[in-house]
Amino acid sequence: DLDLADRIAARFGAKRAATTVHALDGVDLAVARGEVVGLVGESGCGKSTLGRIMAGTMPASEGEVLIEGRQRSALRGREARQARLDAQIIFQDPMSALNPRKRVIDIIGEAPVAHGLVKRSDKGRFVRELLEKVGLDPDMAARYPHQFSGGQRARIGIARALAVNPKFLICDESVAALDVSIQAQVINLFMDLQRELGLTYLFISHDLGVVRHISDRVVIMYLGRIVESAPADELFARPNHPYTVALLSEIPRIDVRKRDFAAIKGEIPSPTNPPKGCHFHPRCPHAFERCRMERPVLREVGGGHRSACHLNDLSEIKRPAVQAA
Ligand code: SF4
Ligand code: MG
Repeated sequence: DLDLADRIAARFGAKRAATTVHALDGVDLAVARGEVVGLVGESGCGKSTLGRIMAGTMPASEGEVLIEGRQRSALRGREARQARLDAQIIFQDPMSALNPRKRVIDIIGEAPVAHGLVKRSDKGRFVRELLEKVGLDPDMAARYPHQFSGGQRARIGIARALAVNPKFLICDESVAALDVSIQAQVINLFMDLQRELGLTYLFISHDLGVVRHISDRVVIMYLGRIVESAPADELFARPNHPYTVALLSEIPRIDVRKRDFAAIKGEIPSPTNPPKGCHFHPRCPHAFERCRMERPVLREVGGGHRSACHLNDLSEIKRPAVQAA
């Protein structure tokens, strides 16, 4: 059971302006201090939007973000600045995320100096220590991003985020651009840093295989809604939602780069005009009449496991064995 004071929580309704996408629809996500939450879904499901709103880099048109029980939007001055530093996003493509004209010492060292966390005269030593912490040679501080490999650039991105001493890291497809063997190394680094620094992570990925070992809890999103949430072991052992089952059937093909979701029939519907009822019904092999009419609510199915599927209302006898199409 989580103490609200220890959570970063976000609640959002649908965006209503005609020109905006209904990016998030009734999403309610609490992340406890020290917890690693894996947030998984296909592109366009709203997971990056949720990450940005929780990081404070994107405003929510509706809803609120609570940090340790307090509304982010009510914070002012020093507290507001601290909240921005406390939550850092690490993006996907380290090449485009790092300024090519800056040396690593400045990429990593500028923000902490600007925010008064590190004296200018200490910048060199500070950056060298951080490079070591993320497994890079400290003597590389004077180099430019293009002089590093993809995996090394990912580590530079992590060092840059750590430089302002954050509590909460939002990792948005942070390893997606890397080869599988390098992915594993960088995920191990994330896990080591989490233990060492007591960090809290929202680990966003389109790939369940990527979040499997790092996450305490996995949250599955589909077209702007959370459809399932469970402790990681429980989710992989007993997936409940037909969408999660379909995603899981993709994992054996983790070695195939840029694969599509071939096991799930049909295209992802437009997020601007999602299907009525259960958003997943046009692609769901188990859809029945009610699914086309009525939105399933996310509710407890046992063991801290929540799922939003009408099948959970059927008796044991009527409920089909849920498997990928
Ligand atoms: Fe499939 Fe219906 Fe469950 Fe949606 S509510 S996942 S359409 S069975
Ligand atoms: Mg994204």
